[in-house]
Amino acid sequence: VGAVYCALVHHPVRDREGRTVTSAVTTLDVHDIARSCRTYGVAGYFVVTPIEAQQVLVNRILEHWRTGAGKTRMPERSEALSICRVSASLADVLVAISEREGRAPITYTTAARAMAAKPTMTYAAAGAAMASQSGPSLVLFGTGHGLATEVLEMADVGIEPIAGRAGFNHLSVRSAVAISLDRLLGSPATPSHNQGG
Ligand code: SAM
Repeated sequence: VGAVYCALVHHPVRDREGRTVTSAVTTLDVHDIARSCRTYGVAGYFVVTPIEAQQVLVNRILEHWRTGAGKTRMPERSEALSICRVSASLADVLVAISEREGRAPITYTTAARAMAAKPTMTYAAAGAAMASQSGPSLVLFGTGHGLATEVLEMADVGIEPIAGRAGFNHLSVRSAVAISLDRLLGSPATPSHNQGG
């Protein structure tokens, strides 16, 4: 089984009008997504932002939990954040993974809306592909109003959107990551012992 990586992209993403922008880092995304990633055995979680001040902010959070006062107070959080790294660009993420794994990852995008003219896979198929290949995979998540078209186009595979039931499709990225990781890497549900009782 190849290593699975995640990246939270703050650039390039879309704004409300569809323009390509850089979004601001939400500190909650750093912690919560690291915990989900650590829970599902993700090998590395990259927070991607080209803005230096934002890189400093994320590194300060990581520092606090990895070595600072946070480590002794909440060791689990420290462990989760140990897989988190800041990266200036998606290109840097690809280089970092390639150096560590000896080959480039297969890249998967996630989005709330389906992209036409793009090879798409269901979560089940993408999870099976990740489990059967020996090379690394990288799952990309957006911020703002989602990953920019250029990212959706450059990636190898687009994963079909998570569909709820109520016609409302505005998951926070933190929820989308947790649901995605469970669908891609979670163990099948254990049969209930209470069935029929
Ligand atoms: N500011 C927002 C927040 O509350 O987190 C950021 C929203 S951002 C567009 C949401 C990201 O979560 C998307 O880029 C995508 O990666 C993922 N996402 C959201 N809804 C999804 C869905 N239905 N299926 C798959 N991924 C989804």
